[in-house]
Amino acid sequence: MAKSTGKPIATSKPSKLMKKTESSDQTVLKKEVGMDASEVEADAVAGIAPDVQAENVEDKTELTIEKRLIALYTLQQVHSQIDKIRIIRGELPLEVQDLEDDIAGLETRVDNYIQETIAQEKSITDKKNAIKDSHALIKKYEDQQMNVRNNREYDSLTKEIEFQNLEIQLSDKRIREFTANLEQKKAEIDSLQKLLQDRKNDLEIKRNELDDIIAETEKEENELVKTSENNKKYIEERLLTAYTRIRKNARNGLGVVQIERDACGGCFNKIPPQHQLDIRMHKKIIVCEYCGRILVDDGIVNATQ
Ligand SMILES: [Zn+2]
Repeated sequence: MAKSTGKPIATSKPSKLMKKTESSDQTVLKKEVGMDASEVEADAVAGIAPDVQAENVEDKTELTIEKRLIALYTLQQVHSQIDKIRIIRGELPLEVQDLEDDIAGLETRVDNYIQETIAQEKSITDKKNAIKDSHALIKKYEDQQMNVRNNREYDSLTKEIEFQNLEIQLSDKRIREFTANLEQKKAEIDSLQKLLQDRKNDLEIKRNELDDIIAETEKEENELVKTSENNKKYIEERLLTAYTRIRKNARNGLGVVQIERDACGGCFNKIPPQHQLDIRMHKKIIVCEYCGRILVDDGIVNATQ
């Protein structure tokens, strides 16, 4: 790595240490940034080694690094948005599924209750018909009593009439029971149907949310693809690989972070003032010495907005 082109990558470690082991930068980097970050470092260092041989190497490198950082930070922003949407979308299909299960269960219960009420109504009709039949029989027996030849026949018919009157009483009792039952079932069906309607409304809202989020995600993903294509011009493939690896290893999905209150925006460890200055120069890609994330300043952040 030629000194004249400037080191395109460095940790936020004081330069004193770097100078001591100038001949083996990568070894130092590996030691300083830890295992995961060291892999990234090795790739990144190789990936962004300047291949420009023109006279104004310094300027071109500067421009290129700045563009790379802007492109990387843009990519990070879009990736973070996608992450957020995917987290939300990740819960919604489950909520929709739960509601669909609830609704299916409620519909089955309502159907069963309706079948039960139909059976009850049929029983009531049967009992009413039985009462009619009993009345018809009583009428017939009373007519027959007018023409009996002896007391025995008359008493026999009286017994039949008494029996039919008992049957009528029994049927009336059953009808009252069935009717009470029927009213209770109908009330239950009403409340179930109200609950069912509420669930269906919830489902519609959740489904719309899900559809919106899916549509939004697709839009975002398409934008990301477009942005990635654009950014590829400014980011070496190996740097992109390094970024992807840092992002994957980071719990919050951040591979590129902004300096916030003199600290790394990823792990919140303080960054020495000299290295904050280096980061602001945009001449090197600088990673956090603690977490290995690529660091950017306000200038890069503002340039992406
Ligand atoms: Zn950090």
